Amino acid sequence: MKYVSTRSQTDLGSFCDVLLSGLAPDGGLAMPAFIPTFSAAELEALRGLSYPDLAYAVMRPFISDIPEADLRALLHATYRAEVFGSPDITPLTPLGESGLYLLELSNGPSLAFKDMAMQFMGHAFEYVLEKRDQRVNILGATSGDTGSAAEYAMLGKARVNVFMLSPQGRMSAFQQAQMYSLNEPNIFNIAIEGVFDDCQDLVKEVNADAEFKAKYHIGAVNSINWGRVLAQAVYYFRAYFALGLPADAEADFSVPSGNFGNVFAGYLAKRMGLPVGQLIVASNENDVLHEFFTTGSYHVRPAARVAVTSSPSMDIGKASNFERYLYLIAGADAVQTAGWWDEVGAGRPVELRDTAHWPEIQSSGFRAGKSTHADRLATIRRVDEQFGRLIDPHTADGVLAGEGFRRSGVPMVCLETALPAKFEETVREAVGRVPERPTRFVGIESKERFCDVLPNDAAALKAYLAAKLG
Ligand SMILES: *Cc1c(COP(=O)(O)O)cnc(C)c1O
Repeated sequence: MKYVSTRSQTDLGSFCDVLLSGLAPDGGLAMPAFIPTFSAAELEALRGLSYPDLAYAVMRPFISDIPEADLRALLHATYRAEVFGSPDITPLTPLGESGLYLLELSNGPSLAFKDMAMQFMGHAFEYVLEKRDQRVNILGATSGDTGSAAEYAMLGKARVNVFMLSPQGRMSAFQQAQMYSLNEPNIFNIAIEGVFDDCQDLVKEVNADAEFKAKYHIGAVNSINWGRVLAQAVYYFRAYFALGLPADAEADFSVPSGNFGNVFAGYLAKRMGLPVGQLIVASNENDVLHEFFTTGSYHVRPAARVAVTSSPSMDIGKASNFERYLYLIAGADAVQTAGWWDEVGAGRPVELRDTAHWPEIQSSGFRAGKSTHADRLATIRRVDEQFGRLIDPHTADGVLAGEGFRRSGVPMVCLETALPAKFEETVREAVGRVPERPTRFVGIESKERFCDVLPNDAAALKAYLAAKLG
């Protein structure tokens, strides 16, 4: 399988090439040259496979440059019961008789769904770097979940160091403790005297220095990485088969969304032939995606206009994976996509309502819902009372949006993107008690912290990296 850029059809190489690179040279995102599909009979044959074997079947058509035995070994090393808490990996739990289901994606090391793909990235990076005799120093910025998922995925991995910037004192107590308590020779936590946007700008500034970047092998594992998107498509198949529906019967999915990576993976599964009906994009107060799917206008917001909410991992003003969706809607037309992203780059809206693309967008299955802080609290309380199940604020956004689009006789699978233990403050506000924690995290806030504090200054960060990487 060859990969191309969404903006120019430039040949970007094969899977391992796009795994290690970030944006395409033209600023676009990597996409496979075509999307392989399963026939109904081929889909039937996937039913009953173990998680790693299913992952192999779904991902294999996109990965032509890792030998079969190696890819299988890699996936079996990634999706293990010891890492994800059960041999199911992603258990599907009905919420009473409501027709709603929770797809549990957050039983991995960092208690959020990002582990599902990030754990694969850890193993895949180690494999590819070894083959190519290369090293990489991952430089990232986090407001919470991505940083811990990346660190837990990369710890102990040869040839990889992680330098993770976080805004000093601005993450939840649990999130800080989860990252800063790691004392590993290849993990470097750096608290920046600033906000999350400052951290992101610092990463951009370091990456803009091509000479520095090359000299110190600076890389990334951000949400636009194709490897993450592809690994996420697997659990849509898994959930679908777990429902035990008759062949061809549809299932709907509701997905708490920010950068559009998770829900895009669901769309990928649909394009591969999985009978996915609706894909509900759930947003919080930061509703650029809701605006697009209801009005046809995609208008990104500058960081200063992004609200701070109680589902913070969805606080985004632009959805970086959305470009992949519009590229597919345009029929893989890179010229068209580049034109749209010129507008996006200039801060202007892309208006598609009165274009020939709108019917295609409407029939693609996407619907959108949004919620407020009060909605989240009420949903957490209601799900706890009705079904005896505590959910986190992001999952609550998804459940509420999913309820709004129920179709009779069609199951609605709500993706659980984090465990409530990660967002204790909001859960306590909703139900008056704190959620249970996995034992390994009990008392984590009082553990010793390993973290360096740096000023919001690119020169200081570069000096720090140079000193560590000598
Ligand atoms: C990252 C994250 C999201 C958003 O996922 P995207 O793939 O960026 O749309 C939702 N919920 C939680 C808990 C997350 O960590």
